Amino acid sequence: MDGKVVGVLGGGQLGRMLIEAANRLGIRVNILDSPGAPAKQISAHDGHVDGSFKDRKSIEELAPRCDVLTVEIEHVDTEVLEDVQQKSKNVTIEPSWSTIRLIQDKYRQKEHLASHEVATAESVALDSNLEEELRSVGEKLGYPFMLKSRKEAYDGRGNYPVRSEEDVLAALEALGKNALYAERWADFKMELAVMVVKTKDGTLAFPTVETHHENSVCKLVWAPARNVSTDVSKKAQDLAKKAVSAFEGKGVFGVEMFLLRDNSLLINEIAPRPHNSGHYTIEACPISQYDAHLRAILDLPIPEASLQLREPAIMLNILGGKAADSHIAFVRDHALANPRTSIHLYGKAEARPGRKMGHVTVTASTMHEAEALIEPLVDAVDEAAG
Ligand code: ATP
Ligand code: MG
Ligand code: MG
Repeated sequence: MDGKVVGVLGGGQLGRMLIEAANRLGIRVNILDSPGAPAKQISAHDGHVDGSFKDRKSIEELAPRCDVLTVEIEHVDTEVLEDVQQKSKNVTIEPSWSTIRLIQDKYRQKEHLASHEVATAESVALDSNLEEELRSVGEKLGYPFMLKSRKEAYDGRGNYPVRSEEDVLAALEALGKNALYAERWADFKMELAVMVVKTKDGTLAFPTVETHHENSVCKLVWAPARNVSTDVSKKAQDLAKKAVSAFEGKGVFGVEMFLLRDNSLLINEIAPRPHNSGHYTIEACPISQYDAHLRAILDLPIPEASLQLREPAIMLNILGGKAADSHIAFVRDHALANPRTSIHLYGKAEARPGRKMGHVTVTASTMHEAEALIEPLVDAVDEAAG
């Protein structure tokens, strides 16, 4: 496009879909991840780096090959990114290392949002991870509450719902080795998400979508959110934009929210990168979250109308099942013959139960039609999960 080279820490499915978008615009992307990572499989050139996105040497090898460095995962070493930014005038990191550092610690992320008057669930940091401390937190927040790991969390793996005092020991047994905080239970009627694009000029929002999690893993996304008024949708977009404005740097951010019974909104968490709840944009919007991320970090134009829905969409994640090829069998036996269904397989070498192996998106002229079309696929996924 303008000859600038993008470097990405991480080459999983998000990096792979970013490359799909980059390829269409002729943008060169260098990936740092292990050989054969999903993103590298679809990008044949010699600029990639083999190694871990947590490794100093590998990041220092990647940086001089790029004009803009970005991430597909927030669990990276921000000390290294800070050093790279200080030492090198030729590379910019988007979003900034300070933003990634704030966001990767979910407790600090919440403190930061609170200091910008963005509502989140009340959170208490733990000092000792001792039983007495957790019991006194339980008295303060009431039961149930959610115990959360401050760092390295994804797909609910760092979370433990503490339903009553009897769960305290089991919760500490499960998570006690991590730095922890506790969150007041959000009695939500629905979970919403908005992909926000932060550009050099301000923030733009994709539509408000409805997300459904099973075992704390995102399963389904409806775009637009169903049974939500225009007013609430707009409020969610505004809150998401306000939250993202509190952070430095450019790129797309995934904003997860709780819609409470009184229609008020709380931010659950923010991801400083493309997000599972934004996959639907590939088929449903004129430009996808991946296109938007590239354009934002490279200062290319993003017409606001290009973020609107062309038609309603539903996304369903394909998770690893009991057999190593369960996800392939789902595609072969169900998804391929399903009408109006776009299929994405991520090319991950190993399938584990619950691991994100791919997704499908159905679009149709009405949400009602999309729901009818995706129903057999949801049934098949549920059956496979037993
Ligand atoms: P992700 O893969 O989205 O990064 P994560 O591991 O960071 O997930 P969270 O987003 O904190 O986990 O929580 C996962 C899910 O657990 C939420 O989407 C929501 O369904 C539920 N949850 C989290 N926090 C709370 C809360 N305070 N009250 C009620 N439910 C919650
Ligand atoms: Mg998270
Ligand atoms: Mg989450």
